[in-house]
Amino acid sequence: MSDISRLSRRRFLITTGLTAATSVALKGCLGNPPTATVDSGATGSAASPVTSPAASPVTAADAPEITTIKLGYIPIVESAPLIIAKEKGFFDKYGMTGVELSKQANWASARDNVTIGSAGGGIDGGQWQMPMPHLISEGVITNGEKIPMYVLAQLVTQGNGIAIAGIHNGKGLGLDISGAADYIKNFQSTQGRKFKAAHTFPHVNQDFWIRYWFAAGGVNPDTDIDLLAVPPAETVQGMRNGTMDAFSTGDPWPYRIVADEIGFMATLTHEVWPFHPEEYLAIRADWVDANPKATKALLKAVMEAQQWADDPANRAELVQLVSGRNYFNIPANILTPPYAGQYAMGDGKSAFNEFNAGPLYWKDPRGNVSYPYKSHDLWFLTESLRWKFPLGGMKDFTVIQQVIDKVNREDLWREAAKEAGFSDIPADTSRGVETFFDGTKFDPQNPQAYLDGLKIKRA
Ligand code: CA
Repeated sequence: MSDISRLSRRRFLITTGLTAATSVALKGCLGNPPTATVDSGATGSAASPVTSPAASPVTAADAPEITTIKLGYIPIVESAPLIIAKEKGFFDKYGMTGVELSKQANWASARDNVTIGSAGGGIDGGQWQMPMPHLISEGVITNGEKIPMYVLAQLVTQGNGIAIAGIHNGKGLGLDISGAADYIKNFQSTQGRKFKAAHTFPHVNQDFWIRYWFAAGGVNPDTDIDLLAVPPAETVQGMRNGTMDAFSTGDPWPYRIVADEIGFMATLTHEVWPFHPEEYLAIRADWVDANPKATKALLKAVMEAQQWADDPANRAELVQLVSGRNYFNIPANILTPPYAGQYAMGDGKSAFNEFNAGPLYWKDPRGNVSYPYKSHDLWFLTESLRWKFPLGGMKDFTVIQQVIDKVNREDLWREAAKEAGFSDIPADTSRGVETFFDGTKFDPQNPQAYLDGLKIKRA
């Protein structure tokens, strides 16, 4: 364990009040536990695990204008807070008794469904990669049709990684690939085709993570390799039969790829950018504007679900709920290790055995996970400028900031958290300077300096 992750873990344990007793409970629930939960520096805290309001908090004054909404989700760990809010009764608790969760076939379907809205048979909002809400609001990925959306909460941090096909065992493909850059770049001359990598949707998270990782190691993802959007099942089949080399993906795929001996994990996104922003809850602006109390009721329910989900004692039940046939429809044992932060990496790399390396929903060592920092919206849009991705009218930082101020409704998150009596409300809309594994820093006060300092970017 690195010093920073050791420190992070200790702070996490202190802030969540995870005691030796709960470590034992975790061991009982999840089988082989993270050895790091036995952390002698963390057992003296008396902090309460989560902040939970009293039951039946809905008064006549904050009764929701509407009790129904249709929210889309993708069956990956990012959507767990929505499923938990539904299954554990948190939506009901806050008066949203008619929330319908609608499984989306893929990200393009989610986009198309939010464009038509629930009135047209689609969805009102749900789970999104970034910066999809901004791109949909500006009509960039909706054929020019602008559907204003609001980002309301972050659903999760981490839980993603970069998998490599087994044919590349022993070639030095880890977190830092600078030693393997020539092997990747020369693939065409030695193998007759370029090194081929996949993500699931262009110009959003998984595309950014693998681009960042390649470029930090000296490989230009635009020119040195082929990088394209491919459905997960097809990517995995390609990794099996030797026609696909890398996959930027989320749980449960990293565990499956190693367990099924399809390949190995080069790195977890937890290593590339510890506690990075991942996926978000965003809803159509027309729905939120018409139903502000219902929006806050939804937010309170999701926040309480996130607090519940981060209690290690609840993770075994979480796995049972999300893995069920009506949600992820996968064997629970495939999700149990990632939810304990246990990642076999393969290719001779040390396994992770650290709760904080896996998905976190409410709190991490940097602070609140659920709160939607505007500085993170800015990083996603800055990275879009780096790779010259289509941004419509968002051509410079002035316009980008205007769009962020319109789309990001951290003010509603704050109101909801205060009304519900939750603590851990961030003081600022910026999380401050972000540091990546290669030492690169992103200062939200000066995104241009970050862009200027990057060696590999699209001309
Ligand atoms: Ca993801």
